[in-house]
Amino acid sequence: MFRDGARKSLWQSEVKKYEGFLARGHRYDVVIVGAGITGISTAYRLQNQGLKCVILEASNIGFGTTGGTTAHLNDFFDTTFEETINKFGLENARLLAEAGKEAMQIFTSNVMKNTIDCDFEHKDAVLFATSEEQVEELEKIFEGAQKVGYQMAYTDSIEYPMGFQKALLIPRQAQFHPLKYIKALAEAFTNAGGTIIDNCIYESHDESDQEVLIHTSQGTVRGGHAVFATHTPPGVNLLHFTTAPYRSYAIAFTLNSEDYPNTLGYDLCNPYHYYRTHIIQGKKMIIAGGEDHKTGHSEDEGACFARLENHCRNYFDINQIQYAWSSQYFEPADGLPSIGVLPSSQGRLFVATGFRGNGMTFGTLSSTILTDLILQRPNRFAKLFDPKRFKPTAGFKSFLKENATVLKDMIGDKINMERINSLLDIEPGKAKVVRYGGQAYAVYSESNGQRHVLKSTCPHAKCEVRWNNAELSWDCPCHGSRFNVNGKMLNGPSTQGLERLE
Ligand SMILES: Cc1cc2nc3c(=O)[nH]c(=O)nc-3n(C[C@H](O)[C@H](O)[C@H](O)COP(=O)(O)OP(=O)(O)OC[C@H]3O[C@@H](n4cnc5c(N)ncnc54)[C@H](O)[C@@H]3O)c2cc1C
Repeated sequence: MFRDGARKSLWQSEVKKYEGFLARGHRYDVVIVGAGITGISTAYRLQNQGLKCVILEASNIGFGTTGGTTAHLNDFFDTTFEETINKFGLENARLLAEAGKEAMQIFTSNVMKNTIDCDFEHKDAVLFATSEEQVEELEKIFEGAQKVGYQMAYTDSIEYPMGFQKALLIPRQAQFHPLKYIKALAEAFTNAGGTIIDNCIYESHDESDQEVLIHTSQGTVRGGHAVFATHTPPGVNLLHFTTAPYRSYAIAFTLNSEDYPNTLGYDLCNPYHYYRTHIIQGKKMIIAGGEDHKTGHSEDEGACFARLENHCRNYFDINQIQYAWSSQYFEPADGLPSIGVLPSSQGRLFVATGFRGNGMTFGTLSSTILTDLILQRPNRFAKLFDPKRFKPTAGFKSFLKENATVLKDMIGDKINMERINSLLDIEPGKAKVVRYGGQAYAVYSESNGQRHVLKSTCPHAKCEVRWNNAELSWDCPCHGSRFNVNGKMLNGPSTQGLERLE
């Protein structure tokens, strides 16, 4: 089944395709755009609260990052409690810890209530430091956790073969198979009367006091409210300035021994690595991830896989690499996700984005926050994650840095674009963005010489796309829109593909 890249993730054999037709003129209570963990969890919860919901998905369920995740379920986060205390205060950091616990409970209850077979298992996690600098970082993580009353403890031994100086044991985290989970939850949603429509791209909307009109590639849908569960909101939004797209790489491999770790493992390198074990179709594998970088900012994405593999080969007796894939996530400038009313909306449009590497938890948490907001019930986490909360004190440096990079990329790529006299100048096996006859083109020449020529300017904010040689895609370095070699949109925020020239 399909994902937003040319490589297959190990979860993909489990994706179920839903076919549906848009009932024109039909009005739903809530229109949910996007069928990843966020969209499906939210739709499931809303439908079970008696609201009539439809999910509109540009491709198929699990097409986005949920199909390319590594599915650790944590209640500690990439943004540490210590960082949260410094930026948002102790009370809010405590609330963040409670939010993690609540998400875990919702997830567990979804699994139990629907008897979902998704390889869900509670696991302890270890966080380990391999240098003096990392030890300092680890100690700060511990101190922050102590202050918010989150349970973790130093440990003398870890299951991982890396020489470590100090390590923390964090009990009762979890892991699961993300596509088995969302597939089963999607079924529970449709069994409760919900509708899922595949191959339906959100293009634009109109919002009034009474309703929202969602204009899609299949026609217009009317709803009382709408939720953008698209990982980053489609179209142009303030949130594109406060979150930045990053890519992360994952490989799954078998070992020559039976030394598979039973715990979830995380180092503190920069960029960091994360590990766990999963059995897929009877085969035990270690899933390792890392080598993250800003989207469109690697000269050679293929080399990121090579580095990840070399790193793992240093420590594990690898028998065979079975899968290698990459995917995209969004870094918020202030470290916390945005879940709630979409900035620019009059109150009927909602969003959930900026999850960093914790989207399994925050995607699940979004379902309760958004349901309460739509039903106009109080939710104790809503204020902390309010998408309109942006204030200069928290994350301002990161905000400036990311947006300065966007400007530099946008202008630099246009000025420095290579000029060619013939499209035949692009050799077989190569891809380039070039200026030809006064126009900018993204040209990919297959090894057999067949050329795919697209207009290279991203429809979203007019930046020039860059080639991703690992996933065979054109990636926008500004806000993370991605397109395949035929110009089809793989990831938003763009709502259109790149124009293809025959
Ligand atoms: C390699 C990697 C490993 C990760 N590992 C972990 C982990 O171990 N634990 C963890 O908690 N998090 C992890 N994350 C993060 C986590 O996977 C994501 O945050 C999460 O999957 C996001 O889910 P989502 O439903 O919000 O978005 P997605 O899964 O991306 O779903 C969005 C959906 O919206 C659809 N869509 C987009 N635009 C439109 C449109 N215009 N119209 C209609 N539909 C549209 C897309 O096709 C897509 O299916 C990882 C991320 C990466 C990149």
